[in-house]
Amino acid sequence: MKIERISKSTTMFTFDSIENYLTSVFLIEKKSKNYLIDTFCGPGSMEAIINQLNSKKETVVINTHFHWDHIWGNCSFKGSNIIGHRLCRKLSDELWEEQINKNTKYIDGKVEKLLPNITFEEKIIFEEDGIELFYSPGHTVDSISIFDREEKVLYVGDNLERPIVYVESEDVSTYVKTLENYLKYNAKKIVASHTSNLSEEDIFSTISYLKDLMEGKKVDFESEYTRTVHKQNMDMIYKN
Ligand SMILES: [Zn+2]
Repeated sequence: MKIERISKSTTMFTFDSIENYLTSVFLIEKKSKNYLIDTFCGPGSMEAIINQLNSKKETVVINTHFHWDHIWGNCSFKGSNIIGHRLCRKLSDELWEEQINKNTKYIDGKVEKLLPNITFEEKIIFEEDGIELFYSPGHTVDSISIFDREEKVLYVGDNLERPIVYVESEDVSTYVKTLENYLKYNAKKIVASHTSNLSEEDIFSTISYLKDLMEGKKVDFESEYTRTVHKQNMDMIYKN
């Protein structure tokens, strides 16, 4: 695991235990509370982070969406507030066993089912710390994003990713709207779970890719990896 400071108040913990991906969780330490964005693959992955936490402050856990590599470490935070979209709680619950069975080899430690215990529809704002959580459906229907108003850092979960995003919700026009909405934040820094240094350029190129997908345009990619993901995206949208 790699530990890196990415802003005055944020530490990024990056794991390389999943092939082909680097996956990061983010600890934002503010005046009133700590905010941990995602919990990776289990309690084993969370140990180093917990050891580093200032225990005098409450730690609020945030799940960007229901995917296994973002929620399995929730059980390290029993008794804490875990926040996600209403649909994140629902999908994490319904698909818990299925996700465990499909990705058993990535389980890190004794994973127990622990769902978000605070859910919302559109927005939650922690005013004292300038932390805004907002609904941003795209990669999945339950995706949320986090904006740090003090430092202008935007955390986008899996909604942006280089070299290509995974489209796992067929509502691509909503995905485009979410990305267009990101531009309004004028973020100084944009970070995703699997790509740490994004720019507005990545938002524009992802919008353009999604529009091509919707229009059924033929898109060519150089690498085998991007071609495979693109095919999965096509299958997701045109499955009916
Ligand atoms: Zn995901």
